[in-house]
Amino acid sequence: MAGIWPGDIRCVVALSIDLDGRASWVQRDPQFAQLPGLMSMGDYGPRVGARRLLNLLDEHGIRCTFFVPGSIAEANGELVKEIYARGHEIGNHGYVHEHPATLTAAQEIDILERSRAIVHRITGEAPVGYRAPGLNPSERTLRLLAERGYLYDSSLMDADTPYVREEGGHRIVEIPTHWEWDDFPFFAFAPAANIRAPIQGLEAVYHTWASGFEGTYRYGGCFALLIHPQIMGRPGRILMLERLLRHMRSFPGVAFMRGVDIAKLLLEQK
Ligand SMILES: [Zn+2]
Repeated sequence: MAGIWPGDIRCVVALSIDLDGRASWVQRDPQFAQLPGLMSMGDYGPRVGARRLLNLLDEHGIRCTFFVPGSIAEANGELVKEIYARGHEIGNHGYVHEHPATLTAAQEIDILERSRAIVHRITGEAPVGYRAPGLNPSERTLRLLAERGYLYDSSLMDADTPYVREEGGHRIVEIPTHWEWDDFPFFAFAPAANIRAPIQGLEAVYHTWASGFEGTYRYGGCFALLIHPQIMGRPGRILMLERLLRHMRSFPGVAFMRGVDIAKLLLEQK
């Protein structure tokens, strides 16, 4: 056993796929909904990228977590059903990708409940995992989740190994991630939304992520890679992702786990 993991597991890879579609763009500015070019970039996720990623995951026998905003789940019910039927977990990710830190308590609770009900209606199972849109939870988010029986959150950056927190008298797991393990800062380019940082080369990003995994492996942590179908579903990038999956799978003792599986594992440990 290395670190917190049981048996021969030395490192866990928690791949998560944020199916934001157009929601994350509309959240930035509702006026963006009137920009067909920008909206089409978001739509590429549910339209093309998601199934391409699903097929890649099937080829590698990997199950992971999809965080889906309620409005995108409503608009793509068949896709969400298919993701779930193919063995992946669906986590709560707001309604129109609202950042909890910008909401009142009443708004945050309303969005949390509404989005949860949508996923429940589509898959038949209520989500037990949550990721704050924009990785921007409020000071109350973790407590609200714990009070509602969520098993885990994946929004914070204070560790690289999942851990159990006490929130409002309840135990809840945090599965931390980081911008370095997120495709958005490297690849997002949207002049209409004033995001103009140059698109990074695939080799540089591959090296960053492969090194992040190798370091996590050495320290026995959890490599929580966070990707978006509208970004990583593109043809060149998905080949880079496949190369990364092969690289990670070549190490002994690497387990790919969904957020829910990690949370249950930790909550069962005392
Ligand atoms: Zn998101």
